[in-house]
Amino acid sequence: MLLLGLAIGKAWERYKLRDGKWIDRRRARDSHHYVLGLNFLVSNQIDLAIEELSQAARVDSDALEIHLILGNVHRERGQVARAIQVHQALLQRPKLTKVEHAYILLCLGLDFKRGGFVDRALEAFNEVIRMDPSNHYALLYLQKLHEEQHQWADAHRIRKQLVALSGPDTQPRNQLILAFLENELGTEALRVGDRGHAARYFQSAIDQDPDTTPAYLNLGDVRFIQGDFQGAEAAWDGLMARAPDRAYLAFDRLERLYEQQGLTKRFEERCRGFLGANPQDWRARLGLGRHLASRGRHQEAFELMLSALEQNPHGLTVHQAVWNVLQHLDLDPALVARYIESARSSVFFLDPHVCLKCHYRSTDLLWQCPHCHEWNSFVEERIAPAKEATVEM
Ligand SMILES: [Zn+2]
Repeated sequence: MLLLGLAIGKAWERYKLRDGKWIDRRRARDSHHYVLGLNFLVSNQIDLAIEELSQAARVDSDALEIHLILGNVHRERGQVARAIQVHQALLQRPKLTKVEHAYILLCLGLDFKRGGFVDRALEAFNEVIRMDPSNHYALLYLQKLHEEQHQWADAHRIRKQLVALSGPDTQPRNQLILAFLENELGTEALRVGDRGHAARYFQSAIDQDPDTTPAYLNLGDVRFIQGDFQGAEAAWDGLMARAPDRAYLAFDRLERLYEQQGLTKRFEERCRGFLGANPQDWRARLGLGRHLASRGRHQEAFELMLSALEQNPHGLTVHQAVWNVLQHLDLDPALVARYIESARSSVFFLDPHVCLKCHYRSTDLLWQCPHCHEWNSFVEERIAPAKEATVEM
């Protein structure tokens, strides 16, 4: 939250230099209140910062920048009404330059956003862009607002504008975001039954950025619904080839697909082939184990699940699968003993997915973080195998 205030301050600095003629701020800038206020801001002592900046603003009531920052600090403190009041008062000033006007509006937009006044925030950001079509901040906030409202087409359109403004170094990241937005557009199309458009969006997302994992899954799903089984398999194969660590997401689907086609051996073959190339993949072992268990091959399932447990001793889902299969084996004492031995040092946990950007934790794999709104930022947390941990102790 502090970073946001500082970011705006920085942008402000840049524009100030470009305009380079606000001499009336000198008095306020020289006052120790201003410097103290900024220092408190940097050390995150917000209340003290507000106090000093308010003093500085009184010393020089004309200083636009100080009032602007003060309003931002009020907002970050959660005093939204106060922030809106400060920023709206600034808008009333005569002889504002276009850049000043745009920046006050930008801050006001952030106030509205923070206060939950979505429509007014959208309005403010759009007006900033009308005044200054290349305003990155306004475009970025607008995109985020649309994303939060699940207005994917609008978010996509705004992102395109940002892409047009940004340099080649940002292209990979832009492509990732555009691709995930296109994937959302496809999901939306699918929801209203427009399979043709949906498939095109998913394909376009993959073309845009081949690491858009959910687009492969969704593309396969659409093709499956359309009866194009070969196409569905090709989409899911594409995912497994591109991201083996996420291949498990396609397992259930492939199992259903082969079942549908009456290919009774195919899923087992695929799993064994995959395990040959990725022997450490506990999900493939678990998936195959469940598959075999559903066919009454409980003994083989037990062996696979126990080996999955060796790879991932902390996953509750694996243990549950083992309990299930042990029950079908009438709790054979020898097998139960083996399970207890291998589970001895397990630690259970249910939320292994972590956002790399903000450390938000989730049981499920998410494609956009609900906390920081980053796309594709979740990784699965790996805890060291139990055996190694025992050795260390
Ligand atoms: Zn996050």
